[in-house]
Amino acid sequence: MLVGVLGGGQLGRMLALAGLPLGLRFRFFDPSPEAPARDVGELVVGGFDDASALDRFWSGLDVATFEFENVPLAAAERVAGRVAMHPSPRALATGQDRLSEKTLFREVGVGVHDFAPAASDADVRRVAAALGLPLIAKTRRMGYDGKGQKVLRDQKDVEACWAELGGVPLLVERLVAFEREVSIVACRGAGGEFAAYPLTQNTHERGILRESVAPAPDPEGTLSDRAAGHARAIMERLGYVGVLAIEFFVRDGELLANEMAPRVHNSGHWTIDGCACSQFENHCRAIAGWPLGRTTAAPSVMVNLIGHVPEAAEVLRVPGAHLHLYGKAARPGRKVGHVTVVGPEAMAGAERVRALSPMV
Ligand code: AMP
Repeated sequence: MLVGVLGGGQLGRMLALAGLPLGLRFRFFDPSPEAPARDVGELVVGGFDDASALDRFWSGLDVATFEFENVPLAAAERVAGRVAMHPSPRALATGQDRLSEKTLFREVGVGVHDFAPAASDADVRRVAAALGLPLIAKTRRMGYDGKGQKVLRDQKDVEACWAELGGVPLLVERLVAFEREVSIVACRGAGGEFAAYPLTQNTHERGILRESVAPAPDPEGTLSDRAAGHARAIMERLGYVGVLAIEFFVRDGELLANEMAPRVHNSGHWTIDGCACSQFENHCRAIAGWPLGRTTAAPSVMVNLIGHVPEAAEVLRVPGAHLHLYGKAARPGRKVGHVTVVGPEAMAGAERVRALSPMV
């Protein structure tokens, strides 16, 4: 079975590393000839607006998917018009627009903090007056790793907001004094079967995910199941096939959904080494129409390697550490790999890994 993946980044690379042993073959589409997935499949290089390159990509595929959330919808639809695509372009479109995803959360009964769209300078002022400060304004589209956001603490911030964020449609939401951030990664099969990984607790540095701890502390023992129930409701509403991630804030034992990613997710990388069947393998199984694998997990901590590639030997000396490098050159703020430490000493091991590879 030949799987086409829109995007050839590290997520695509890890999909192929999981799918190749199952007999799947991969073809990637990416604007860069240096895309990390080039090592593990065929790579079609082209812009997402290049119709002839897209046609070379879909021709001969059995199924298509995407690993990059900002694939222009028109490109996804062009491919989905010819080949079955999972998740669907509708799910992709929902995940690309912060207003659509928050509206969906609210519709299916998932807790969200207050939000309102703003399409002009005057709108920002109106929403700020209606909701009250502090708020956070985010571009509705193309935001990632904390980019395209501005915290509004006083009237001066409100007045500067529209111009500073580039005069594009915004979502303005309440700034949540959360205790911690968690995410749920779940998978839905073609026949509707559902599997969720244990809830993961995430720590960000400079707006970029630095560390994921799984399972997340769950003092009442209900958080993980509630988050999985939310994922299930969203997936059923969308008729979703494949892996979906939802990020939440935890405040007073309550889950407030921040955003969703209709794809495999960085906070699920620990499942490669810490779970019976990883998020990447389960995504492959789902889109191929095969049964899902078990999500049974061992305690794991994942550390993202950001802007710095450590010495492999140093990392591998840490008991229980598994090194994953993406074949990318180091640049400040760039994710170049990750390390997952599995087992009872995962926390201590992760601390050693963080010291070996400071974030650059
Ligand atoms: P996002 O791009 O929405 O994932 O936001 C990036 C990071 O900014 C989040 O992981 C939070 O740490 C922070 N953040 C985003 N939205 C809010 C909010 N409404 N309240 C507080 N912090 C937020």
